[in-house]
Amino acid sequence: ERLSSLGEDLDLAMTTNASLLPRFAKALSKAGLRRVTVSLDSLDPDVFHAMNGNRFDVGRVLEGIAAAEEAGLGPIKINCVVQRGVNEEGLVDLARHFRGTGHTLRFIEFMDVGTRNQWKRDEVVPAAEILERIGTVFPLEPLDPAYPGEVARRWRYRDGGGEIGLISSVSAPFCGDCTRARLSTEGALVTCLFADGGVDLRGPLRAGADDEALRQLIASTWHAREDRYSEERQDLLRIEGAPERPRERVEMYQIGG
Ligand code: SF4
Repeated sequence: ERLSSLGEDLDLAMTTNASLLPRFAKALSKAGLRRVTVSLDSLDPDVFHAMNGNRFDVGRVLEGIAAAEEAGLGPIKINCVVQRGVNEEGLVDLARHFRGTGHTLRFIEFMDVGTRNQWKRDEVVPAAEILERIGTVFPLEPLDPAYPGEVARRWRYRDGGGEIGLISSVSAPFCGDCTRARLSTEGALVTCLFADGGVDLRGPLRAGADDEALRQLIASTWHAREDRYSEERQDLLRIEGAPERPRERVEMYQIGG
């Protein structure tokens, strides 16, 4: 409610595993949330558990998506991280499930976010391969970006069944168009998903900095940024035997993805 009171033009969205949406979707909508993005890597119960732990079933995620739809928290995006040898055989099933629902399924290449997901380069399924897997069954055609700097490449089903997105951070980095700033749970401004830290905003805020001082701090931080981690990773991956983890990074739970 406090965030939504900042302005009607604020696109207030939440990324979630959807497990609590059956209980809270209506209340979140009433509080001013506009839309949700749901993480769902597989419809197969065993694969889902392998990737997400044993905390709840995939059925609960689908119930959460239905609750979000009913509460008007759309357009809903479904994010699927694709990992070689783990869930790539279920991609067409996911596409089939969400075709015609109005939800946008987005396939994300497995990335080395944080330091805890045991990322390996050979577990990345390139976006081109994902596209081929889906397009062979459900023919696709490209769409223009919905706005400048959109991270997902958009494709639509030729038969009018809706659209999908492909996020190719590993095989085709898009750092040059990156406009994403993140605020960590500790109040740091983080200028790259793969940064090893950020600029403290909480300290100045608690010390009484006014809006103008904070605006200047944020602007100077943004103008000074030279982030191009995914492009650097791509350069590194071309070198046989190069280390797979070039440096420490903030964890996803600190910045929310
Ligand atoms: S690696 Fe960093 S700079 Fe490049 S697109 Fe991702 S968040 Fe933006």
